[in-house]
Amino acid sequence: MATIEMNNIVKQYGDGFPAVNDISLDIADGELMILVGPSGCGKSTLLRMIVGLEDITSGDMVIGGTRVNDLAPRDRNLAMVFQNYALYPHLTVYENIAFPLRLSKEFSNDEIDRKVREASATLELDEHLSRKPANLSGGQRQRVAMGRAIVRDAQAFLFDEPLSNLDAKLRGQMRTEISRLQKKLGVTTVYVTHDQTEAMTLGDRVAVLKKGILQQVATPRELYEHP
Ligand code: ADP
Ligand code: ADP
Repeated sequence: MATIEMNNIVKQYGDGFPAVNDISLDIADGELMILVGPSGCGKSTLLRMIVGLEDITSGDMVIGGTRVNDLAPRDRNLAMVFQNYALYPHLTVYENIAFPLRLSKEFSNDEIDRKVREASATLELDEHLSRKPANLSGGQRQRVAMGRAIVRDAQAFLFDEPLSNLDAKLRGQMRTEISRLQKKLGVTTVYVTHDQTEAMTLGDRVAVLKKGILQQVATPRELYEHP
C-alpha cells in the first residue's frame, strides 16, 4: 500500500493541446480516488501514466515515496483491473489467482498455495477455486481479478471504467462490492469513470478533469454541497 503523488504532470501527444495539462494530485494511503470527467478529458492517459503504460512528458510521479517516471510497469508493483477483468478462460479460479506468482518464479508451490488460499478467503472465493471464469457471476469474476492483484501485494489498485459494460443492476451491485472490498483491504485505489453517480457513491474523494485540466478535488459531500 502506498501514497501516489503527482507533481505537475503533463502529457503531450504530438503538438496539440496537452492531453494532461499540469496536474498535481496527492492520493493518500488507503484512499479511493475517483478520476471523473467527459470522454477525452485525459482520465485514461493519467491512469496509464501512473501504471507506466504511457511516458510522462514532464512532471514527477511518486509512488510509495519512489519516483517512478523511469520505472517499467512491472517494477511499479501496481495492479490494473481491466474492464473485462482479463481472466484466463481456460484456467481455474485457483490458477487465475496463482498466475502472477507462478510468472514471477519467486515462490514455491507451498507459498503460492498459502497466498492463493489467504486471498480467496479474504475475497470469499474459497468455494469456487476449481471453477472456470465462464461459470462465475460478474461479481465473482471481479473478485478473482482483485485476488490476482492482492496475492502480489500490489501497492495500489487501478480501475479503468471497470463497470461500463454491465447493465444498471449489476453495475450497482458491483459498485457496492468494490467499495466493500477496497475498504476491507485498505488498498490505495484510483478509479476512472465518466459516470457521476459512480464517482459520488464510490469515492473517498473525486478529482474532476476537463480538457486535461484538474478542475476540482473534493469529497462527494463537498461536491453535493458546492457543485
Ligand atoms: P478519457 O480517458 O478521459 O476519455 P483520454 O486520456 O483517452 O481521455 O484522452 C485524452 C486526450 O488525448 C484526447 O484528446 C485523446 O484524443 C488524446 N489521446 C489519447 N491517446 C492518444 C494517443 N495515443 N495519441 C494521440 N492522442 C491521444
Ligand atoms: P474445490 O474448489 O473443488 O473445493 P480445492 O480448491 O479446495 O477444491 O482443492 C483441493 C486441493 O487441490 C487443495 O489442496 C489445493 O491446494 C489443490 N488445488 C486446487 N486447484 C489447484 C490447482 N489448479 N493447482 C494446484 N493445486 C490445486
